[in-house]
Amino acid sequence: MTASQVRIAVVGAAGRMGREIVQACHRSDGVYLSAAVERAGSPFLGLDAGELAGLSQIGVPIDADLAAACRSSDVLIDFSLAEAVEQVARLALSSETPLVSGTTGLPQAAQTALKEASQTIPVLAAPNLSPGVAVLTALVEQAARQLGEQYDIEIIETHHRGKVDAPSGTALALAEKAAHARGIPFPAQLCFGRNGRTGERPVQEIGIHSVRGGGVFGEHSIVLTGQNEQISISHKAFSRAVFADGALRAALFVANAPAGLYSMADLL
Ligand code: NAD
Repeated sequence: MTASQVRIAVVGAAGRMGREIVQACHRSDGVYLSAAVERAGSPFLGLDAGELAGLSQIGVPIDADLAAACRSSDVLIDFSLAEAVEQVARLALSSETPLVSGTTGLPQAAQTALKEASQTIPVLAAPNLSPGVAVLTALVEQAARQLGEQYDIEIIETHHRGKVDAPSGTALALAEKAAHARGIPFPAQLCFGRNGRTGERPVQEIGIHSVRGGGVFGEHSIVLTGQNEQISISHKAFSRAVFADGALRAALFVANAPAGLYSMADLL
């Protein structure tokens, strides 16, 4: 480690994204993996985080002590489980450790804890940490606003079979952006798939459809359909590395930012 490197603790270190963060720290300048945190009882506790991520030994054991990780790190990056995020936010706050939160499907208590923490520390919370989705979100906002209610909005998202929440946090964030752009109450007008005798499609409805299967890293399409034309805006992740690299960019950002609640749009 050099004096200028930002020390990163990853929470959820043994997970798909956690391992990706370990790899990204290894290949990136300016950051250093200082701690790798897992839940108590995880079978991976004590293993070397580098080896688990497919690298050589890096001398960082997987550990369940989040408070110790906060003490030894400049930034926490969280890719764990929705139920864990409230505690992660509270520990980040009490240790004044800037936080990047990528976990999705957050219950209200976790969202509140992130907001409360952001009054004292910088917090960047994003259901999607890829730069492409940050731009996609801005495009969706523009399309929804400029095309108006003559164009029906539907969102289709596809993810790997291991994803535990639906719809994706990204799909919900895109729907929220489109709803605000149109003045549609959110989330009241969301329609999660259709089945049976649904009646005609209400003008303000925003349909969201979740496809699950195989190893798909993440795909989102927003389709705006008018009487005589259709516009479709899509994003496809080719690898989890795009989220991990985005998370490290976000970590470097929050390491030097004032307290506040940030999104990926603040980095671009
Ligand atoms: P995963 O199930 O592979 O990994 C989650 C890991 O967190 C597991 O190893 C689990 O043991 C660990 N964990 C659970 N509770 C914990 C606790 N209290 N403390 C520490 N670790 C704990 O899941 P994943 O595919 O890596 O995804 C993780 C989260 O990140 C999901 O919510 C997913 O939707 C989200 N995600 C976000 C982005 C983004 O860009 N923001 C990208 C991909 C995935």
